[in-house]
Amino acid sequence: MNLEGKVSIVTGGAQGIGKAICESLAALGGAVIVSDMNLEGAKTTASELTAKGYRAMACQVDVSDAKSVKVMVDAALSEYGKIDHLINNAGITRDALLLRMKDAEWDAVLSVNLKGVFNCMKAVLRSMSKQRSGRIVNISSIVGAIGNAGQANYAASKAAVVGLTKTVAREYAGRGITVNAVAPGFIETAMTAALPDSVQKTLKEQIPMARLGMPSDIADTVAFLVSNRANYITGQVLHVNGGMYMSG
Ligand code: NAP
Repeated sequence: MNLEGKVSIVTGGAQGIGKAICESLAALGGAVIVSDMNLEGAKTTASELTAKGYRAMACQVDVSDAKSVKVMVDAALSEYGKIDHLINNAGITRDALLLRMKDAEWDAVLSVNLKGVFNCMKAVLRSMSKQRSGRIVNISSIVGAIGNAGQANYAASKAAVVGLTKTVAREYAGRGITVNAVAPGFIETAMTAALPDSVQKTLKEQIPMARLGMPSDIADTVAFLVSNRANYITGQVLHVNGGMYMSG
């Protein structure tokens, strides 16, 4: 797999899975726009990559804000002249059981995890359509497929991302653009580090491979999907979860 000459935007690239995706795409020769709400974190990721001789720049973005997304896309186009790949990875949780879930918690999760994906796809699709090529990978979640008590907002947003992915895949297949989703299981990041040890232990008992995934497990799948090895794959959801959920 070789991404030389390719340009990727990765949202939520400052840490966790997004940072691993940035590292993976840059190591394959691509230029990476590390975009995040957390500008300092994005700068750190970008400078770690450039220190290794890779091509990267940092950009601050709030994916839930279409104006902020436009600024990110314009910055990428003015620096590199094109966008080949968009990886919609930025995501948040605001957990509570349904009866206790506040409207603000519902709205915040939907506006980042779902509206954010809509905003970013809308902002890159014009230039991808013109160049008649592009790859979009949306990060969903196992929770969107099987549900999870305490995460009604998150599960709804991640399931909706799958419907959005399949629809945009159909709309833009004729333009040479593929749109796929990756649904991680439970991965070792800040998001899961917050879970108590007892919950982590119970989770591992439900995973046939008996371990949480690593961010690189997801990054490798994303790298495959944007590469030439995945030319004929669109509208799919790749589940990467150690066997915790086996989709039909
Ligand atoms: P993470 O460690 O919390 O990192 C998410 C990054 O996104 C953070 O740097 C965060 O910045 C940034 N972000 C939050 N809101 C944003 C916004 N509005 N605009 C731009 N950036 C924003 O999360 P992760 O565990 O790596 O997860 C990455 C993705 O994988 C998410 O979509 C998540 O839902 C999905 N996922 C994760 C797991 C898992 O087990 N970890 C499993 C399934 C799916 P701040 O720190 O400033 O908020």
